[in-house]
Amino acid sequence: MLLRVLGTAAGGGLPQWNCACPGCAGARAHPHRRRRHASLAVCADQGRAAHDQDRAYDKRLGHDRGRWYLVNVTPDIGDQIEETPELRPGPGPRQSPVAGVILTDAELDHTLGIARLREADGFEIHATAPVREALLDRLRLGDTLDPYTHLEWRELSPEAQPRPQPLGTSGTVEIAAVPVSAKRPRYAVATGPDEPTWVIALRLREAATGRSLLYAPALGHWSDDFQEAVEEADCVILDGTFWDDDEPVRAKISAKTATGMGHLPIAGPNGTARRLAGVRARCLYTHLNNTNPLVDPGAPQHELLGRWGLEVAADRMVIEL
Ligand SMILES: [Zn+2]
Repeated sequence: MLLRVLGTAAGGGLPQWNCACPGCAGARAHPHRRRRHASLAVCADQGRAAHDQDRAYDKRLGHDRGRWYLVNVTPDIGDQIEETPELRPGPGPRQSPVAGVILTDAELDHTLGIARLREADGFEIHATAPVREALLDRLRLGDTLDPYTHLEWRELSPEAQPRPQPLGTSGTVEIAAVPVSAKRPRYAVATGPDEPTWVIALRLREAATGRSLLYAPALGHWSDDFQEAVEEADCVILDGTFWDDDEPVRAKISAKTATGMGHLPIAGPNGTARRLAGVRARCLYTHLNNTNPLVDPGAPQHELLGRWGLEVAADRMVIEL
């Protein structure tokens, strides 16, 4: 399974346009520290030689780079596609390898990029029911985009479909959702009971090899189901928004702790690092906020992470499983 990390920053990116905090100032002074909004791309039809129908279809299109799905679509998506050779259009004049979108939640920094894809004839969007409803009923994305493109909604349902669903037509990659938080976006005001599927961790599994990746850019709660998914995965890319629980309060960006904001911190007694330290999978942190000391490559926290056998994901990283 082939994956590309398109971005690794939390909402606002690094640097954030209206912020002069040390993290953002550092990224302005040292462009290699810049991070785009957290996102991932997965190739859904590697090894599709077994699927003759698909092969014929691809041949007709003259396209041999596979079909790619974007996991969350950020305000940076135009630049992220240009920076990733596999996602650039061609060889036909309006031929894109981007086939669809998978959403792990309905947060603005994970969904605003959908409007930028409106030049497509149409594309799939895989999302849980509350996420789809927030985008259709609150953001009015369906009404807005309907004159431009066709959104083909596919439901991600951890309850009704605990078994993995095939992604795309070739079925070489399967997806499954693990609920990790009932936290809804601020624009989606409370209109009904809290849904456990507002935020999910996404499991991507290659059918032929069984190799899998667990992607959880926002993790509010470490459940038994999530623990099981971590143990099964070959690679885990996890919420690294905040280094410790008091960081948002200390940095004066919120009155809430990291956990209160729906992001388990990396370090400390309720941190995710101690849970990940013993697992078999390769583990990388993503979705770094500009207040996180890890945005400075010289910060001593990097050495600590290394000692625990954990990594920080980088923009444009290639992951092959
Ligand atoms: Zn900042």
